[in-house]
Amino acid sequence: MWPHQELDVPELRRDGQRAVPFHQFVLKVHSRCNLACTYCYVYEGPDTSWRDRPARVSDAVMARTARRVAEHAAAHELPVVHVNLHGGEPLLAGPAPLVDYVTRVRQAVAAACGHPCQVRATVQTNATLLSERTVSELAAAGIGIGVSLDGGTAGLNRRRADRRGRPAWPAARRGLAELARHPEAYLGILCVIDLEADPIDVYDSLTGLGPPAMDLLLPHANWSAPPPGKPLGAPAARGGPTPYADWLIPVFDRWFAAEHMPVRVRLFTEIIGLLLGVESATESVGTSPVAAVVVDTDGAIEQVDSLKSAYEGAPATGLDVFRNAFDEALEHPGVAARQLGMAALSDACRACPVVRVCGGGNYAHRYLAGAGFRHPSVYCADLERLIRHIALRVRAAADLPS
Ligand code: SF4
Repeated sequence: MWPHQELDVPELRRDGQRAVPFHQFVLKVHSRCNLACTYCYVYEGPDTSWRDRPARVSDAVMARTARRVAEHAAAHELPVVHVNLHGGEPLLAGPAPLVDYVTRVRQAVAAACGHPCQVRATVQTNATLLSERTVSELAAAGIGIGVSLDGGTAGLNRRRADRRGRPAWPAARRGLAELARHPEAYLGILCVIDLEADPIDVYDSLTGLGPPAMDLLLPHANWSAPPPGKPLGAPAARGGPTPYADWLIPVFDRWFAAEHMPVRVRLFTEIIGLLLGVESATESVGTSPVAAVVVDTDGAIEQVDSLKSAYEGAPATGLDVFRNAFDEALEHPGVAARQLGMAALSDACRACPVVRVCGGGNYAHRYLAGAGFRHPSVYCADLERLIRHIALRVRAAADLPS
């Protein structure tokens, strides 16, 4: 049972809590991966639904999904929709189905919308399959390319290997070299934090790959399955060890001290924006309503993938693009809960002095087995320490009293 089953969505709507239309559509193209990273929450985590899905998205699912996206964009007069092609490893399907999927969405949106609506398309890949032809075809189709890595050297990527244990780095490095020839398509790098890696080595080596942006991600974890470096324990707000803040703070200081910041680091820019009163655009921090939805290779409408790290079936909605519109997904208790902002937070978070910036952290990181999501983040102490540190640095740089 979904732990927010007690949420009465019709009642919320009567109280004036409006659903926020989806504007980010995560479309699964291939449900398998050519790598077997040791920390992967999709293939090594509690949710095994990927085993029952078709490996590749079919023509029928692509056509129906494109119509559903267009229907949603038209109904809500969205000025822009973001289409994020994901896997597994989406490039296992080759570039043609990716271009085809995006073309179908663009054509359907143009046909359905009586207003201008831009379709911004991206693909997230492990870079091992980025050949010259693949990068050229994606770039020509206006599909931006984001890469997932653990750092910019072979040693830092030791956890990324294929099923036979062969390291992914040599192929990823070749792919990155091809991508560097198409800066118009190079979006940036996502990196999951490994406490065993030196933070400055990770930051400097990633910066050396020339991305316009990067994000440093806390590993998906929760109170019942804590991340490396954190003990198993009951949710306890504030205080405790802060290994992830200890890792991130030297990176922030190096990034913030640079005369010309070489790269946009999303976690840091989001926190600075929130400190200055700007709404967040990610699920990691802040209390902005979540506006992302997933369509899997079989057409199932799912919630965000990070929930896979909580328990078997956590992202499921029971809906699919053949029978259901995305508006129906907006009424799912799990989606509604992630759009409630402050109202979805635990008492401890609501009383917390940094809540406007932290927002309780990523929703998936608040989970405790048998007790749902209304808890502080398992990274609570790290988030508070990092936010306070960044606030101090920003105040000092602006010459404001702390
Ligand atoms: S808002 Fe963030 S820092 Fe504050 S109690 Fe909640 S999780 Fe912890």
